[in-house]
Amino acid sequence: MSLSLLVYRSRSTNQLKKDKVVAMSKHFAVRNRDRDITGMLVFDGQYFMQILEGPRQKVTALYELIKTDPRHEEVVTVLDEPIYRRTFDEWGLGFIVIKDDGGKQIISSDLTFDNQLYKLGLDNLKRVDETRASMIIDAFAKGRWREPYTILSDEFYEDLPQEAVPEFSNGESLGLYPVNFAFQPIVNPVSKLVTSAEALLRGPNNESPATILSQYSGIDLYRFDLESKQYALQIAADMGLPCRVSVNLLPMSLIMIPDAVDFLLDKIESLGLSSEQIIVEITEEEAITNHDAFHGAVTRLRAAGIKVAIDDFGAGFAGLSLLAEFQPDKLKIDRKLIQGIQTNGPKQAIVRAVIECCYSLGISVIAEGVEDAAEVNWLLEAGVSKFQGFYFARPSFNGFPQINW
Ligand code: C2E
Ligand code: MN
Ligand code: MN
Repeated sequence: MSLSLLVYRSRSTNQLKKDKVVAMSKHFAVRNRDRDITGMLVFDGQYFMQILEGPRQKVTALYELIKTDPRHEEVVTVLDEPIYRRTFDEWGLGFIVIKDDGGKQIISSDLTFDNQLYKLGLDNLKRVDETRASMIIDAFAKGRWREPYTILSDEFYEDLPQEAVPEFSNGESLGLYPVNFAFQPIVNPVSKLVTSAEALLRGPNNESPATILSQYSGIDLYRFDLESKQYALQIAADMGLPCRVSVNLLPMSLIMIPDAVDFLLDKIESLGLSSEQIIVEITEEEAITNHDAFHGAVTRLRAAGIKVAIDDFGAGFAGLSLLAEFQPDKLKIDRKLIQGIQTNGPKQAIVRAVIECCYSLGISVIAEGVEDAAEVNWLLEAGVSKFQGFYFARPSFNGFPQINW
């Protein structure tokens, strides 16, 4: 049964008192339970945001009904996509957060969950599970879905708890694999934790990805691209990387090879990894030029629990219009926009807009190709917390590099 997730925002038609909203949410809880739908309702005194998760057809049918409800207007669909598993199932079927005078108060519509919810609190929601839905709720609570929206505050992007820093010797060669990968960390320099490691294709003598991929064409290219990833996963598993692993794939590789996602899942499982630990990076350029393949690939990956990143954002031509149509879990801003940002006004304006947009949409932002402290400092102040680049570590051939914090 395919599950889907839908998040919408709307504005209350009337001034609602707290008791009224609580009563409404109790009614919704029962309605949703009957429909096998879980989720959460948030109200800030003026706007609603609701998360609905459940069987696809039931969610769609309920949303159609909700849209006709006269108690709210300005209904905006924020997220609508397939999901691998539910996030809100153990928290009851519908609860509500009311923000009074900037303070947060959580009232459960399912009384048995009261204690648990008070403990969780809105601030903790994001820490429990870094899903897009919880990140979007966080942005909502900070006023990003109000109209006109409030300006960026300095509490922007709190650090999320990350995995422990792995310890590996520098550039150690495993020398066991027919294809090789260099691993480059993506780091959060504030919490000094590694977010993930990107596997970059290499030849036996450290040849570049372009050199290796150019030896193949047609279906062979896609087959090689996909099948080489089993070695990336194997090296990552052998190194015992305690962080997420990112691999690069052409969207066509996921479309042209039958059962490509099953192939990946099979390797992930037999290596003792979890699909939710894996990120597939697709470049902005590929996403635009192979539009249908890209959409097909993303749907399959998401349904399998694999996260999707848009790579080299800003290097292609789609820019923000790509985000209007599709929202990845992660967005990697291309080095072209990052290089020398501390002195470049237009780059600053563009990157600020991208950050703001990703924040509202629950997309985590990574700055690619940072080479010096001035770039990192500017980006940290603008709210970026994740970085990849020579400044922190160069890719390490069949190994994991030392990080220069
Ligand atoms: P990418 O995914 O954007 O990977 C980052 C590239 O930027 C890497 O080049 C990395 O070495 C380089 N880089 C990282 N930090 C810095 C920095 O601070 N400054 C500069 N100047 N460069 C930095 P690499 O390894 O040559 O990879 C090039 C591209 O090849 C990748 O770009 C990715 O799009 C593609 N690629 C890599 N592995 C695969 C693969 O397995 N399959 C496919 N289809 N493409 C791959
Ligand atoms: Mn990449
Ligand atoms: Mn890139």
